[in-house]
Amino acid sequence: MTARVASIEPTRQTVYTEAMEVFHRAADLIGLDRRVRMELEEPDYEHIFYVTVKMHTRLTPLAASEQPRYKDLPDSELLPDGLEPLLDGSFVFKRRALINANVFMRDGVVRLKGKGLYKVVPGRPERFKAYRVQHNQARGPYKGGTRYHQDVSLDLFKVLAAEMTWKTAIADVPFGGGKGGIKVDPKTLSSEELEALTLRYMYRLKPLIGPNLDIPAPDVGTDGTIMGLLLRQFTDGERERHSLRGVVTGKDTRIGGSEGRVRATGQGLAYCIQEWYADRGSVPAGSSFLLQGFGNVGSNAAEILAGMGSKLLAVNDAGGTIFNPNGIDVPDLVSYVYDNPSNLRRTVAGYPKAEQISKNDLWDVDVDILIPAALGGEITGPVAERIKVKLVAEGANGPTTPEGDRVLAKRGIELIPDIIGNAGGVTVSYYEWIQNKRMEHWSETEVNGRLEQAIKSNYRIIRDIARNTPRRTATHNSQRYCIGREVDMRTAAMVLALKRIEAHYQLEGFSQ
Ligand code: NAD
Repeated sequence: MTARVASIEPTRQTVYTEAMEVFHRAADLIGLDRRVRMELEEPDYEHIFYVTVKMHTRLTPLAASEQPRYKDLPDSELLPDGLEPLLDGSFVFKRRALINANVFMRDGVVRLKGKGLYKVVPGRPERFKAYRVQHNQARGPYKGGTRYHQDVSLDLFKVLAAEMTWKTAIADVPFGGGKGGIKVDPKTLSSEELEALTLRYMYRLKPLIGPNLDIPAPDVGTDGTIMGLLLRQFTDGERERHSLRGVVTGKDTRIGGSEGRVRATGQGLAYCIQEWYADRGSVPAGSSFLLQGFGNVGSNAAEILAGMGSKLLAVNDAGGTIFNPNGIDVPDLVSYVYDNPSNLRRTVAGYPKAEQISKNDLWDVDVDILIPAALGGEITGPVAERIKVKLVAEGANGPTTPEGDRVLAKRGIELIPDIIGNAGGVTVSYYEWIQNKRMEHWSETEVNGRLEQAIKSNYRIIRDIARNTPRRTATHNSQRYCIGREVDMRTAAMVLALKRIEAHYQLEGFSQ
């Protein structure tokens, strides 16, 4: 084994150093060029900046201790259209609420008919911390999602940006890795505030990104609508704005988004699972699975797998956990979560055709496949000890901790690692980017045909590296990548990424 090159920062255990363990393991195994290793150990750029937004006036629920003082306050009647409900229980107040209103206010407190007492909090500007980490661009423009979440940090974005460098290499698309976003809980913002925040974020970001430089996409807390706003702000006032559509991917299909992009990550994961079964001379039909996260990745993977004949037994999300030993009707659950306006949190909790169980009990459900498709760090050592599954297919980024990995390996539970498992999203993002460059629009059949071929051939290369079986077949060639010994799937995926990145430094040099 080669000695590890000293990192630039003193070694302190952080989410980033922990996530880089597999990088160092694979780099040692292949004797990665020392300078390439240094280039990859830390991001090219770490941008931290601030965005300010004018927040609207809110009506927030009055603390229980203050309520007795306003016992005699009569009901106020405000136009419901002018009050936007937020998930934290407050309302954003819009001026039209006052049309034909009948208001009784004391010390800034009002009683909303049928709802209770609320304190008026006047609108004021607020500052949010924003990030864009550009990890590496040896293989092409930086590429990676935009996350709006209250628990983000520079350390986390470094992890996610580096993951994108590995993932774009594994997916063999001509991109590097980046990631960014804003420290905010988007569910506490009105739609207008979210729009203002997004436009301001892009205003600040504009000098740092571009269709050939850095290309954001959706991630947790953002979607196609947010991508449309980012595109609008980036191209605002540009004479040749139509040629700049490739600056973001994950757009609505009517403004240059690709068919199949919304489902792509779940679709790619389903192709990996199909390939895992094909390798055993079998198919997913008749299997069962367990899901964590019912957002974009989780719900689409579930629909596609259910379509392949696999049965969903339990789902956990941020709102709760549901279980049905006879199987959950996935399209019905999708409509409960997404087509039901009173389900503000878009949660599976309360779904009437399943039992409500605790998250703790989720891990005891006996199934073939576990799909983590929520946030990172969920499959810890103790969780890995408990689960009763044959395969963990990672849809989320970084759902298994290094300790969890060791336990899974010890228990012989197989793994489809995130960097191939959820690479479908970035693969179709690449198709979107090409379509934008060529001013083309491909059909969903064409997109999925290309995606299936790409994901399955890269998955086969990783499997060959893991088993040390170099092969050249009609669909893939792993001869260049096998390393003369067997390794676990996560290390194998990293070996593939590093060998593909190293080739750029070796053949193109460092002067880019
Ligand atoms: P999303 O916001 O659409 O959904 C997230 C889901 O996770 C929701 O169902 C939410 O309730 C659940 N969740 C949040 N916190 C939770 C908690 N503490 N416990 C249990 N469940 C929780 O996000 P998404 O786009 O589906 O992304 C999910 C994961 O997949 C993330 O790790 C993301 O980085 C990764 N990913 C997404 C894409 C993509 O194309 N959307 C691509 C690659 C990787």
